[in-house]
Amino acid sequence: MAASNSTDPHGMRRRGVLFVLSSPSGAGKSTIAQKLLAAEPELSMSVSYTTRPIRPGEVDGKHYNFVSLEKFRAMVSNHEFLEWAHVFDNRYGTPKADVFHTLSEGHDILFDIDWQGAQQLHQLAGGDVVRVFILPPSMAALRDRLQKRATDSQAVIDARMARAANEVSHWDGYDYVLVNDDLEHCFECVRMILAAERLKRSRQTGIIGFIRSLLKHGGANEP
Ligand code: 5GP
Repeated sequence: MAASNSTDPHGMRRRGVLFVLSSPSGAGKSTIAQKLLAAEPELSMSVSYTTRPIRPGEVDGKHYNFVSLEKFRAMVSNHEFLEWAHVFDNRYGTPKADVFHTLSEGHDILFDIDWQGAQQLHQLAGGDVVRVFILPPSMAALRDRLQKRATDSQAVIDARMARAANEVSHWDGYDYVLVNDDLEHCFECVRMILAAERLKRSRQTGIIGFIRSLLKHGGANEP
């Protein structure tokens, strides 16, 4: 999982970050994820598989890989998922292949997955995983956002609202919790978290060589 990265002025290597963003549907997570991907060239999105129907505006292979229940079950049997879960009566899963390929290219990976996925990923990859939970400013604001999105029926929106409280109750399974009452501010906070996590000593696998050279050339008499 070691990765060279171009933002490091010394060309030092570091471990990739498995960066998880979760929130109740409609709390702004997808917008923040898109902004983050646009701003961070070393970050790639993990594209999940799902059995849910495609929504207007979604692109197969970009937003999700849309598959039948039979195909999803076969992938589960073949151990093709890092994690998978039932969400809203549908199944969603993170493919192994994409993650390991992207990590081998030296990139960080962004996961837009629910609390069940965050938990499973953490159990699997521990210290490489950073979990961020985004809260809506209020439940009324959440309903408003879901209604404005106009991609789901009223029954689906009601079901999503019913699940939102359950999702929020899992806030304590995350490393960071943010309230999205201002999109720009929330985005900047998420970006700062990513920047700080990249710099964690435990991820700076290449720093030891730099420190050795500092100490070698940094004797007490050196000007
Ligand atoms: P939506 O149907 O609105 O795109 O997503 C519904 C929920 O499923 C969201 O909370 C999203 O984060 C979650 N989700 C999407 N992909 C995955 C996945 O691969 N694994 C898990 N556990 N949750 C996912």
